[in-house]
Order: sequence, then C-alpha cells, then structure tokens
Amino acid sequence: MKGIVYKSTGSWFTIKAKDGTFYDCRIKGKFRIKGIKSTNPVAVGDSVEFSIENIGDETVGIITEIKDRKNYIIRKSVNLSKQTHIIAANLDQVFLMVTLNNPPTHTAFIDRFLVTAEAYDVPTVLLFNKIDTYNEEELLEIKYLAALYRKIGYTCIGISAKTGKNIDKVKALMQGKISMFSGHSGVGKSTLVNVIEPNLAIKTTEISKQHLQGQHTTTFAEMFDLSFDAQIIDTPGIKGFGIVDMEKEEIGDYFPEIFENKGNCKFNNCLHIDEPKCAIKEALEKDEIAWSRYRSYVQMVSGEDENYRVDIHSV
Ligand code: GDP
Ligand code: ZN
Repeated sequence: MKGIVYKSTGSWFTIKAKDGTFYDCRIKGKFRIKGIKSTNPVAVGDSVEFSIENIGDETVGIITEIKDRKNYIIRKSVNLSKQTHIIAANLDQVFLMVTLNNPPTHTAFIDRFLVTAEAYDVPTVLLFNKIDTYNEEELLEIKYLAALYRKIGYTCIGISAKTGKNIDKVKALMQGKISMFSGHSGVGKSTLVNVIEPNLAIKTTEISKQHLQGQHTTTFAEMFDLSFDAQIIDTPGIKGFGIVDMEKEEIGDYFPEIFENKGNCKFNNCLHIDEPKCAIKEALEKDEIAWSRYRSYVQMVSGEDENYRVDIHSV
C-alpha cells in the first residue's frame, strides 16, 4: 500500500493510506536512503510503501520502501556527534512570519532563513504579520521590505492574524499543499493557525494531553489535515535550522539576485567582495541589489553571522 507519514516517534510511524485510513507502522531492517545519513530513516511527509503483517497476534504495518524526497529539512545536533535528524520531507512551502517589533525580525535573520530554505529547496512565502499595530512610518517600512523581497521573487503578504486581514490569501496559497509556519517566537504563528483552522488547536492539545506521560512526543514533527485540502507540518522548535554545510563559494547561489548576476563578474570564482569588475558590486551601486541583502551575504561568507543562527519555531 502507498501512504504518507503523518507522525513519527522514532520507532513508530503513523501513516495515512491513499484511502484515508491511518496505520501504525514500523520499519523492518535497515534502510539505505540516497544522499543523506540520518538518525531517522523515515520522516514526517515521507511517501512510503507499506504492507500489513501479522507478528504473533499483532497486526502491524511494515514500511518497505521510502520514495525519493523532493526536499527535506534537517537538524544537526550541536554536540560533537553532529548527528543529522530529518525533521520533515516533501514540503511544498514554508511561511516565514515576520514582525517589525514585538518581536523585531531583522533582515539578517530573514536572509539567513531564505538562504537555508533555498539550500533545502523549499519555497518560502513571507508573511508580514501584525499590520493592525503599525503606524504610518512602520507601514512604509513593511512596504519597502515587501517590495525588496518581491523583486527577488518571494511572495509577500501583509496580514493581521488578529483582524483577519488577508488571511484568505494565505489560505488560497495553502490550498492543496503541505506547508510549515516558522518565525521568531511571538510573531503570531499559533494565532494565525488558530484563525485558519480553529479546531486544530484543540486537536493538538488533546493529542499532547494523551501523550503527556513522560513521552517526548513533542520533540517530533507531525502533519495535520486541515478542513480545506491543505496540510500543515507542526515541528518543535528547530535549533540550528540554518546550519547547513555550505562552501563559501556556494552561498551566493542561494541569493537569487546574486545567482542571476554572477555570470557577468570578471572572475567566475568571484566572491563579490574585493574582486575587480564585479557585477554584484555594480548592481549594488545602481541600487538593483539591496544593501541589506549584500550585508547579509558578506556576513555569511565571512562567517560573522553566528548571532544570526536560525533557530526556528514552528506552530
Ligand atoms: P507565536 O509564538 O509565533 O505562536 O505567537 P502567538 O500566536 O502566540 O502570538 C504572540 C502574541 O501576538 C499574542 O499575544 C497574540 O495575540 C499577538 N498577535 C498575534 N498576531 C497578531 C496580530 O496580527 N495583531 C496583533 N495586534 N497581535 C497579534
Ligand atoms: Zn562578483
């Protein structure tokens, strides 16, 4: 049978079959997955083949095959073992929620997040939340930021999870897709999800109550079906989301505006820092590339952005 992994607890997986039935499944033997060595061979979002087997008088599903992933996001443990854990696979998009203040979201953080998402091959949509709270000057700043990121190719929407402004647009983007919400703590992720799907919060609480007895269920990701043909993946906070092994030379490729222009630099290994006849520097002078983006780029290349490590929180 074919199915999608909705929940993983390390050794057990909840899988939704094509007909909508949920099965508890296990893995038999060892899996070798192309391209990545991780502590967990199967992750939420994975598309799998499984069969129902009788072990003693128990009936369990056994995962027999994991389909190739279109993308996945990982977490690396910060300790010496540097083990990789796949948090979720096959995401259609991630919404990055941003607020100007309460809490402030800096462009360095946004850029680091976007670079990481580009490296993971996950499309990002920027949601500028709490627009009901901004004065005129702050609204101008939001407009400026939205224009900046739209020009690079990111969809940007100003929303208010409180008043409901533009929530229909967010829902339209979610239609038929698997999404994840992220952003600093306090930007309004839970509020937004609660507005989009009022019953989901209740469901989540029920589930966490059931499993409260000392289990670490909360450390695992879970996928939820919404009432309008959309799924969201709920993850625990991800420490070190931004730690993707990247060569210096590779970082520019995850800034779409640098990637597009780098062919015009004199040197094909140009880092766009001190080199002569650099197309990126020229585009900057002409204001075709934003200085804030360039600053983020330089910080990443020079490894000076440890303070902007992306620890994401999801709903
Ligand atoms: P999370 O940590 O990202 O899940 O943030 P929460 O959803 O818990 O929201 C943090 C605070 O911001 C709460 O007090 C919310 O009521 C408030 N909040 C969320 N969205 C909005 C909004 O659009 N406008 C206003 N004024 N407050 C909001
Ligand atoms: Zn250059």
